[in-house]
Amino acid sequence: MIFTVAIDGPAAAGKGTISKAIAARFGLAHLDTGLLYRAVGARTLRGFGAVEAAEKLQPDDLLASNLRTAEVAQAASRVAVIADVRSALTQFQRDFARREGGAVLDGRDIGTVICPEAEVKLFVTASAEVRAQRRFAELQDSGSETTYEQVLADVKARDERDMNRAEAPLKPAADALLIDTSTLSIEDAVAAAAAQVEQRL
Ligand code: C5P
Repeated sequence: MIFTVAIDGPAAAGKGTISKAIAARFGLAHLDTGLLYRAVGARTLRGFGAVEAAEKLQPDDLLASNLRTAEVAQAASRVAVIADVRSALTQFQRDFARREGGAVLDGRDIGTVICPEAEVKLFVTASAEVRAQRRFAELQDSGSETTYEQVLADVKARDERDMNRAEAPLKPAADALLIDTSTLSIEDAVAAAAAQVEQRL
């Protein structure tokens, strides 16, 4: 079976949670494509060139433990505007999307650029304030000393860069189902996503 679920949307909207739940429920493989850009961004913080880092990226690089920091997130969104970085990462994502057994990919451009033929396309979003509040709570739980205002500024800076870049900007595919998690519980958001998948399977 070839079956792709493309889940796009801005940072901290709930894509990751929904993707993992859908992958587990339907027995699909899952790729968090943000990790590819984070791994490249992390390399640039250590002095490597972005394009070379993308061309040499290995699957094991996605397992590095420092990829979830705010610093790496900003570095990821800076390398993500570079066309040659994006094209170096395209084939791996396309192969993953069309692998036998089906796959869920979450990112910014899965339904628009990587896999426009995806059987299910979802665009998961929420207000910047709600997303910053969630990310702030996570950071506090992990012992970080950041402020809500700082997290909100980071979320807005990343949105701005992701939505306004020339290459594969963040936007819903014309045929994507919009899921707004500002007001939906996670259970309801997952149920809405699962209903779409069931309908297409
Ligand atoms: O999803 P995550 O927050 O891990 O993504 C980090 C950054 O990587 C995003 O802000 C975005 O700039 C970039 N990205 C992208 N295309 C994807 C996934 C992530 O440009 N498919």
